[in-house]
Amino acid sequence: MRIPVCNPRTGEIDYAIDAASAAEIDAAAARLRANQPAWRGLGAEGRAAVLLKWAEALQANMGPICSKLSIDTGRLAIANIELLGVVGILQRWAAQGPAMIAALDKTDVPSANPGILISNRHVPYPLLGVIAPWNFPLLLALIDAIPALLAGCAVLIKPSEVTPRFIPELRKAIAAVPELEKVLCVVEGDADTGRAIVASVDYVCFTGSVATGRKVAEAAAAAFIPANLELGGKDPMIVLASADPATAASIALRSSVVANGQACQSIERLYVHRSIANAFLAALVAQADAVELNYPDIARGHIGPFIFPPQGDKVQAQIDAAVAGGATVLTGGRIEVLGGGKYLRPTVLIDVTPQMAIIAEESFGPVIPVTVYDEIDEAIRLANDSIYGLSAAVIGDPVEAEKVAAQLEAGAVSINDGSLTSGVWDAENSSFKLSGMGPSRMGSAGLLRYFRTQAIIKQTGQAAAIAAYAEGAVAR
Ligand code: NAD
Repeated sequence: MRIPVCNPRTGEIDYAIDAASAAEIDAAAARLRANQPAWRGLGAEGRAAVLLKWAEALQANMGPICSKLSIDTGRLAIANIELLGVVGILQRWAAQGPAMIAALDKTDVPSANPGILISNRHVPYPLLGVIAPWNFPLLLALIDAIPALLAGCAVLIKPSEVTPRFIPELRKAIAAVPELEKVLCVVEGDADTGRAIVASVDYVCFTGSVATGRKVAEAAAAAFIPANLELGGKDPMIVLASADPATAASIALRSSVVANGQACQSIERLYVHRSIANAFLAALVAQADAVELNYPDIARGHIGPFIFPPQGDKVQAQIDAAVAGGATVLTGGRIEVLGGGKYLRPTVLIDVTPQMAIIAEESFGPVIPVTVYDEIDEAIRLANDSIYGLSAAVIGDPVEAEKVAAQLEAGAVSINDGSLTSGVWDAENSSFKLSGMGPSRMGSAGLLRYFRTQAIIKQTGQAAAIAAYAEGAVAR
């Protein structure tokens, strides 16, 4: 099926993909499965060496990949950051992964049962499926795939149909490493292709919305495979009375509007102590007003258009509903259509309530709703009053901040910074509540999740005969 693709900077449909059919997914899965045993047989060091060759190929193809990725996403700097991020992930896993794998296997460890020796082998899932969203199209297509390859899995990836232009260029960098091409396949497609992937792999990593994540989890349950879900967020930031208002404002602004707020770990709700609220808001609005759109010149400014234009409409509807309910917009607040793309300047709101969609639902835009609090318990209660639990942040005295962090229902809490999970890869963290399910993609769990443990249990003494189970033979 032909799928039209919109250019986020022009609003025009200027590209199309042919979605891989279920039969094509079956064929790709069969080929990858056939090649996986030899890949596993290479050993961890051998696979790490191949991944390093791929890192070189990605760097050699950086120009073409990033230029397509920047059309997909309407931004330039972050396209480069994504690619360099992937190179860093490859280098890190190649450096650290083989030792982690070597430490797993145990041989002939005496059991508590006399005469028994236990060995453990770690067997990778043969084929991982990855289904990725549009907000960081390259990075999120590869972040789960790289440790899986190192573990010895073959991998079948489907990036989002909203941002597919980089895929042919990525394939070239894969084809440049023939050992890798045998076990890594990137397909184009939409929900139907995604469904076919879930039906044909042994493990699925999904990054995207809660609604789709639920469908993927249900399909994975039906297929009896593990599903790792990395879903939405509505991350709160608590600014303590001890915080410096201007510094806190700078952290809050960056953490809320970088990538135009189109990041799962964006700060989307602020709780600020009344004693510093005025100074904080003044600094936040001044700093927000200094943020520039990357229009008309993509090589200038800080934030780009909405990658998926309907997301802009959703954010505008949240702002409008908040204002209708009594919220006040201090700056920003209205989507501008520039050259056909939809842009929103950083938008600061006050007088918001927990019931408003702008507080209760994920926005995925550069929107900063601020609530003023008097007691820290109130701030903690409001921060935890969410269906999401991805991550959070606390700004202020580090000792107090850590005490507050321990009371937050979120898988990761940044202290005196925001959204640190976006760049700190070795901090293992779970997604709480509807923000996800399954092991962490960060830290050693990011690799170890792909192994099943096989026990080899050796009897070195006398194996029991059936007589041991005879009625009357067992003492009562
Ligand atoms: P989405 O759920 O609409 O789509 C994600 C992917 O799922 C796409 O590739 C899509 O084609 C595919 N898909 C759709 N229906 C499917 C189905 N029934 N079966 C299998 N695959 C299917 O998400 P999106 O709009 O692309 O991305 C934005 C969302 O992603 C936001 O909610 C954001 O918070 C979340 N996200 C989470 C993280 C994280 O790490 N927690 C990171 C980035 C984005």
